[in-house]
Formats: sequence, structure tokens, C-alpha cells
Amino acid sequence: MSKSDRELGMGRSIPRRDFIHDTGLAALGLAVTPGLSAGYPPLPNPAGYPPVRTGLRGSHPGSYEVAHALRDGAHFSETRSLDEVYDLIVVGAGISGLAAAHYFRQRFGKDARILILENHDDFGGHAKRNEFHQGGPTRLSLGGTHNLEYWQFSDTVWALMRELGIDVKRMRRHMQFDYGYNAPNGPAIWFDEETYGEDRLVTNYTLESWKPGMSLACIDQFPISAPAREQLKHLFAMRTNVLDGKTDEEARALLAGMPYPQFLRRYGGLGEEAIQIFQTCQHGLWGVELRALSAAEALFDSGLPGLNLIGKTDEIEGRGYPAAMFPDGNASVARLLLQRLIPKVAPGTDARNIALARFDYAQLDQPSSPVRVRLESTVVNVVNAGEGVEVTYVKNNEPVRVRARQCVMACYHCILPYLCPDLPQEQKEAQHFQVKIPLLLTNVLLRSSQAMDKLGINRISCPGRMHRSLFMFKGINTGGYEQRMEDKGPVPLVFWGSLSPPADVYPLKEQLRASRRRMLGLQFSDYEREVRSVLDGLLGPAGFDTKNDILAITVNRWPHGYAYEYMDLWDKDYPPGQAPHEIASRPHGKIVFANADAGASAYTHVAIDEAYRAVMQL
Ligand SMILES: Cc1cc2nc3c(=O)[nH]c(=O)nc-3n(C[C@H](O)[C@H](O)[C@H](O)COP(=O)(O)OP(=O)(O)OC[C@H]3O[C@@H](n4cnc5c(N)ncnc54)[C@H](O)[C@@H]3O)c2cc1C
Repeated sequence: MSKSDRELGMGRSIPRRDFIHDTGLAALGLAVTPGLSAGYPPLPNPAGYPPVRTGLRGSHPGSYEVAHALRDGAHFSETRSLDEVYDLIVVGAGISGLAAAHYFRQRFGKDARILILENHDDFGGHAKRNEFHQGGPTRLSLGGTHNLEYWQFSDTVWALMRELGIDVKRMRRHMQFDYGYNAPNGPAIWFDEETYGEDRLVTNYTLESWKPGMSLACIDQFPISAPAREQLKHLFAMRTNVLDGKTDEEARALLAGMPYPQFLRRYGGLGEEAIQIFQTCQHGLWGVELRALSAAEALFDSGLPGLNLIGKTDEIEGRGYPAAMFPDGNASVARLLLQRLIPKVAPGTDARNIALARFDYAQLDQPSSPVRVRLESTVVNVVNAGEGVEVTYVKNNEPVRVRARQCVMACYHCILPYLCPDLPQEQKEAQHFQVKIPLLLTNVLLRSSQAMDKLGINRISCPGRMHRSLFMFKGINTGGYEQRMEDKGPVPLVFWGSLSPPADVYPLKEQLRASRRRMLGLQFSDYEREVRSVLDGLLGPAGFDTKNDILAITVNRWPHGYAYEYMDLWDKDYPPGQAPHEIASRPHGKIVFANADAGASAYTHVAIDEAYRAVMQL
């Protein structure tokens, strides 16, 4: 039976933070057992150091309202003109915007005056750092962008990594973390009472990266009907090739044209109850519902079950993702870039100590520095004017105008038609095409890993819950930071997922918009109740106490998450140069376009490549 808010500890240790910013780490510190933080440096003040803010982060309250008002028809007149003129203005302080500033200096000299405008209260964009001190030692976690997928790097990206001193091979050597797949504790599936009628934890088991030889008997523990269990077992046991007699082209067309759930129904013999278990398994990864994926995308790009139905049993391998990762994800890349642009933010910092470097945010926007980063500044208008550009942004509710010789738009593409009204209609339509994929990344700092160790779990799949996957985040010993897998102290548990749109919404982009509305409509207390309920049901039997064992909760909402990538079931093939992302990023006078959206691919290396391309177009 579900517990009351009071029983779950709502409002006891962590005050409501549904409003602009955290009300203060000091308040949160009240939750820490007296003496637990003794012997550690004093907590950083969240007023001057955004990475320690908890509550609603990612697209935090205060970051998007101006942009949404613009979308809804607001006009920002009565603009005050600032007496500032730059060589370059960059819109967006994500990795693409920071890289653009870096390449501009490389090309035009270190004296170039650059202003980077960013609507959030922190730089890095999706590359967001979550830093915790509750409970004693510094604990870092992912607030957004996780991995360096180095096997896809271009020469340009490799060169930047070298300049920043990032050695991915070394990082790999110092990584024990593997999303819980090779951890001492194994993966597990947790069925919750609200969805399945009872709480049931099935340990040492995963369906999503199932491989031959894995026991099918575990499926008998699933709290679903006997026929649904038999269907699942049959699916995994089958050895057949339903593509027999088809040419390669016919096979490809069939798999790319068929929704994956239909493939499971038709060839795998699954009914709706069995399919439900997979329904949200790509939340966080592709960030979409199962029904949005083709069979080809599910089988070949996601490792989902079914290769044994097309005669490829031998090719099924275990999971494991060989990416390189900093302990705050690619926030370390953003920080290294920023430190190169404004050395005074963290003198003496390099890739070997970046993870623990304390940045001085007071240095971000100093008139004496050639590069300035202005946070909490939402750009609302960018136009070519005379020999340069005029950029209007809103800060503290006041619209102000600045001028520059050139401008790189490194923000989301879907907002560009509102920011740049003079763009050709064809280009605006191409920019509207980019509907980003919403993602949710909630960090819960647990007092210790004791309950999870007791249950022998490290990564948990929750087919019935808001966050589909949970993983313990430790075992990344790089950038001067260390929390080994064996560490039993405070540990971030990452809740990772997306929010399902209503089942009757069909077109993919409408699904994404509905998911975004849902995400923004929920309050911090909704997310908090969810994680407390899950932890109570999952870890409660192992002695976890939601009233005392949760030290902090940070909900990173990304309503505009991954860049949209073309998908089998929803997009056609375009002739070279005519794809929406190519039209969207055509230069317009002194204005050029970067961001991962410009590459239609949701990766850090793409954000960097697009920054380079944009600066070379200036
Ligand atoms: C949860 C999550 C996990 C991810 N994991 C990975 C991963 O593991 N590996 C990987 O390679 N990629 C990952 N990504 C993809 C990620 O998008 C890219 O790697 C990269 O960080 C994108 O950088 P960007 O600069 O192009 O965009 P962003 O990071 O989105 O930066 C754009 C910036 O522009 C700002 N902006 C928008 N409008 C305005 C305006 N009007 N005025 C001022 N500023 C504005 C935005 O607020 C934002 O800060 C992940 C993304 C998310 C959300």
C-alpha cells in the first residue's frame, strides 16, 4: 500500500524548492546528521556557485519563461542600448557556444572581444555539473551530458581534446563505472506495486541486454500473468529467421518500416502485457516510446531482443559501453573550455584536476576580460544591422541591446525563428523541424550504498515508473576525483528517463511536445514523491529509511534535450544539402549557426564540429 507523504519523509529533510533556485544549501544541511560533515571543507555558498544548487535544475525555473513568452507573441520594446561592442556575440554557453568562442580566438586572435549570452544560471548547457557536499566528502554526478563517444570523433574534435589535455585512454583506464553492467552488484528489474500489484525485485537479471545462456527461469518471478511469462520465455528461446527468402534490401526495408512492438507481436509472439515491460526501455537512451522505434533501430542500434528471430543469435553480445567519462560527465569539458577562455575563473586548472576545481563565478563577466560570459540572459532578438549585428537580450526583466561584428547562434534551433525574424521562411521552417527530445536525470544522494549492496543491485530497470533506469554513480576516478566502487559512503543514485506522452498521441513530434508539457507541468514535490516512493518500495526491505537516508535531490529537467536525429518511421531521405538541419544552419549575413542541432545528432563531438564549421563560415 502506498505511504503518505509524511511517512515517506516529504518536507522533513528537504524543503520544497519549486521556486527559482534552491532556498539554500544551509537549509539542506539541516538534514545532515550532526557531525557527519565534520573534518570537511565548508560548504560552498549556492548563491555564488550554481553546481551545488539542488531542487529543480536543468531547465530550472527562471531560465525559460522569457523564451516561452517570446514564442507566445511577447514583444520586448523599450530596449536600453549598452555601451558595449564586441567582435563576436555567441548565443548559448553550451559546449557548442564555448567551442565557437575558442575557435574564434584561434582564428582571429586572443584579443578578440567576445560576449557569450546564456539563459541559465550556469554555463555548459546540457553538460551540467551536479555537486554535492551533504554528508561529508564532495560527490559529483551527471546533470546532463554523460559520455565522450571518442570512436566517433573527427580530427577537429581530437585536436580540441589534445588542446584541453583530455586523454580518453587514460580516462578509460581509471573508470570502473559501466552503468552497472559489470559492477560487483548486478543489474536487476524492479516491478512496483502500483503498476504490477506487488513490489518484486528480480536480481541479477536484465531483459534489455539479454544474451543466449541467460537463465529464462528468472522470468517466472515476474508478477505478470502466466501466459505473458511464457510468451517472454518463448521469445528468448526461439531460433529462427523470419527474413528467410528475402533479399538484403527487402529485409532492410521490412525492419526499417515496421514499428518494433509490431515486430515483437508478429514474429516474437508477444501480447500486450509482455510488450508493456519493454514499453519505456528506451527512455533516457533514445528518449522515446518503444512505438517510435523501427525494428531495425531496436535490434541493431539499441541491442533490444529479437536478433534470434532473424537468424543472428551468434551476434548477440553482452552490454557494455566503452565511452570515456568524467565524474560530472562532459561538464568537465565545458569547464576546461571556459577555463581556457577566462583563465581567472580557476587559475592552474587542467584536465588532471578539473573535476575538483572550484570555479569563481564572479570572474565570468568582467569588463577587463576579452571573453565575458553573461548568465541569466535570454536572447530575444538578433538582426543584421549595418556592418554587424544587434542582439537584444533580457536580464532581470530588462531588455538590453548590444552590438557585435558577428554572431554565432549556438542555442536550440527551434527558437531561432523567433530570435531571428529576418530569416528566409524556408530556413525558419527547417529550424522548426528540430523538436528536441525531452529527458529527465534526477540525482538522489543516498547516505550510503548499504541497502543496495545488501540487495546485490547496482543498476535497476523499473518498467512501471517515471524514471525507467536507476544506476549507482561511482567508480570514475579521474580529473583529480576519486570514488571507487568499493566506497560505502554517500553515493549519488541516478534516476534516468523520459516522461511518457499520452498513449493516444501518435505523430512523433507531438509525442515529444506532450512529454515536454508534462515535464514542465510537474512540480519538484511531484518528482520528490516519485523518487521517495520508489526508494521506499525498492530499498525499504533492505533497511533504507526514506526519512533519513536521502541527503539531497536534484531533478535535472531537459525539456529540450537531445538534438532530433532522423528516424526510420518518421523521416524521409533528403537529397544532399536539402535536409532540414542543413537548410536550418545556412549563414545569414553576419549570423552563423552552431549547436548539436546543426548536425542533427545529439553528441558532444557534433556540437564541437558544428561550432568549428560555423566559425569557419564567418
Ligand atoms: C540528459 C542528457 C544526456 C546527454 N548525454 C550525452 C552523452 O552521453 N554524450 C554526448 O555526446 N551527448 C550527450 N547529450 C547530448 C548533448 O546535447 C550534447 O552532447 C551537447 O552537450 C550539446 O551541446 P550544445 O552546445 O550543442 O547544446 P546545449 O548544451 O543545449 O547548449 C545550448 C545553450 O543555449 C542556451 N540557449 C537557448 N536559447 C537561448 C537564448 N534565447 N538565449 C541564450 N541562451 C540560450 C541553452 O540554454 C543552452 O545552455 C546529452 C544530452 C542530455 C540532455
